[in-house]
Amino acid sequence: AAKRKLSGALRYDVSIDSSSAQNLSLLTELRRAVERNELRLYLQPKVPLHGQSGSAAEALVRWQHPQRGMVPPMEFIPFAEQTGFVRQLTLWMFEEVAKFLAQPAQQSRGLRVSVNLSTRDLLDPDLSHKLAALLDRHGVLASSFCLEITESAIMDDPHRAEAMLNRLSEQGFKLSIDDFGTGYSSLAYLKRLPVDELKIDKSFVMGMEQGEDDAMIVRSTIDLAHNLGLTVVAEGVETGGILERLRALACDEAQGYHISRPMPAQEFLAWQQRQG
Ligand code: C2E
Ligand code: CA
Ligand code: CA
Ligand code: CA
Repeated sequence: AAKRKLSGALRYDVSIDSSSAQNLSLLTELRRAVERNELRLYLQPKVPLHGQSGSAAEALVRWQHPQRGMVPPMEFIPFAEQTGFVRQLTLWMFEEVAKFLAQPAQQSRGLRVSVNLSTRDLLDPDLSHKLAALLDRHGVLASSFCLEITESAIMDDPHRAEAMLNRLSEQGFKLSIDDFGTGYSSLAYLKRLPVDELKIDKSFVMGMEQGEDDAMIVRSTIDLAHNLGLTVVAEGVETGGILERLRALACDEAQGYHISRPMPAQEFLAWQQRQG
């Protein structure tokens, strides 16, 4: 397992074998976090750079820990993936987003929310049924969701991932390749997948103003996406200068601190209202 540096008061070492006492207690705590409603849905806007398009946001989880305060996902998602707990977390996330989308205000706005899927989710043969039942229960359409999957999650088991993505796409979910450019997937392979969107990894976007390498990668990715008929989104847009460069490069959508930080669902409602 990968060694990771954890900051602050939380110091679980995910490199330790998952049967260790310390990780068993993290698993217990995560289970309890769901039962005790300690997880929070945060939303970060994704905005169009040219004219109109529907409103969109990415759903990101936060853990409001009673002792440790707000725990960022990178301190428990890798562990949740390792243990398989992430499947429960994914269902929790869909439940929260479906509730949010079922509100009349969102139905009329046509908000589309992106949800992150992990390798474990892609390998769960029941995922598609579970999601169908959940959406039915809330009266929300699959097309109101975009599923973000990293290149590396797909490349873990490309055949099974492809079968799963075909099913999810037939079900009406939009699909996005997250952190594009950081994996080692072949373009020929990506072209076969029923993908709608590429999301350029923030490391390239954030580097656009320092030297030309990252800017060149961003430009090529935008052209590639468009040649494949895909929408392209830049994440990690932290400055107005980068936003304007992306617009000039014909990037379709942007997401980042310059536009807004991820915020609790209630604050997102207020943000939407300010946008009109
Ligand atoms: P990601 O899917 O690549 O999500 C984007 C991350 O970039 C988020 O970090 C977001 O807060 C951050 N970000 C957005 N704009 C900017 C910016 O302008 N500058 C910088 N420096 N960062 C920006 P966050 O929320 O800490 O999430 C980290 C990762 O944890 C996510 O990366 C995703 O891989 C994972 N994650 C978060 N929520 C979930 C979830 O519900 N399920 C799963 N499976 N993974 C999740
Ligand atoms: Ca994502
Ligand atoms: Ca990303
Ligand atoms: Ca990432």
